[in-house]
Amino acid sequence: NQSEDKLIEYMDELEFLAFTAGATVEKRFTQRLTQPDSKTFVGKGKMEEIRDYAKEHKIGTVIFDDELSPSQLKNLEREMEVKILDRTNLILDIFAQRAQTSYARTQVELAQYQYLLPRLTRMWTHLERQKGGIGMRGPGETEIETDRRIIRDRITLLKEKLKIIDKQMGTQRQNRGKTVRTALVGYTNVGKSTLMNALSKSDVFAENKLFATLDTTVRKVVIGNLPFLLTDTVGFIRKLPTQLVESFKSTLDEVREADLLIHVVDISHESFEDHINSVNEILQEIDAHRKPMIMVFNKIDDFTYEKKDEDDLTPGSNKNISLEEWQKTWMAKSKFPTVFISALTKENFPEMKKMIYDEVHRIHISRFPYND
Ligand code: GDP
Repeated sequence: NQSEDKLIEYMDELEFLAFTAGATVEKRFTQRLTQPDSKTFVGKGKMEEIRDYAKEHKIGTVIFDDELSPSQLKNLEREMEVKILDRTNLILDIFAQRAQTSYARTQVELAQYQYLLPRLTRMWTHLERQKGGIGMRGPGETEIETDRRIIRDRITLLKEKLKIIDKQMGTQRQNRGKTVRTALVGYTNVGKSTLMNALSKSDVFAENKLFATLDTTVRKVVIGNLPFLLTDTVGFIRKLPTQLVESFKSTLDEVREADLLIHVVDISHESFEDHINSVNEILQEIDAHRKPMIMVFNKIDDFTYEKKDEDDLTPGSNKNISLEEWQKTWMAKSKFPTVFISALTKENFPEMKKMIYDEVHRIHISRFPYND
């Protein structure tokens, strides 16, 4: 059942996110609803089931695979009496842990405050409970208003700070002149940093966790005497919190202003087609979807697909599918140049480099028509 498989994949991804944030997942709950419950996201029965399980097994946190509305969050927390995290909050938390530079930290902080602002009433609920409730409504609300004001001021401040940095970065980008700019884009953990390292012989942090790269790294790469710039950017993910898209403007500007996108796909991942779609959606969101692109299908050393019959590829065994077979699929028929590689073993690197060279060269001579 296809939608059943999807559900498992989504839960796998959420578990990987939780792992990246430093949590261990003990149990998964799923529920099929045509629409999430407006008050508690899951239905009442499911909520009680989760609550009882959490109580019995002393679970500290329950994570939901979607952004919860402020009232859903409040209701769930009250009913379940455990910490409730939603997907957005989880991703923000990972970003906060991973932010290395003050620029990245500022961007994440802004996104966190924007997430927090409409959810501030939760604190008030806690206050009320702590202090016994009755008679606390007045002061509690005043406190909330004060907190809101402080946060709003902070948001304004952070936005101003980012505006200044964004401007500086814009100038920096302009100063790079006419050199052709390429950007690695792709779902998180597909191997962008590994590829960056392999192409630029630099040492960019690569790790089997989500969002190892928050800050953009720009490197000069030379293929066949042709120098160009290569940027590694923050990985994309399904349901990337909108607050993050907004505050990572400058990081995403690298993509928006690139001449050529190198879209890296982890072909060993069962959901790689979904990942491609998520990335394309985000590219559309930031208005970068009309750029020249090269599709790089990575990790061909790591297939785990079994071929049952001619048209059926199902995950599950280590029996490899040959490159020729992949190349007959829709992927190779994409309107973009397509190559299948392994960033780890460097299989088909010459082919990929030739492809990048051709594209960069084409853009290069359109800029320097007389020098070539
Ligand atoms: P990024 O998040 O897209 O930058 O991905 P990374 O470069 O950090 O790589 C994520 C994980 O995939 C790391 O554990 C890499 O070692 C691994 N990886 C990258 N390229 C390949 C590849 O071609 N084959 C295999 N088997 N693993 C790879």
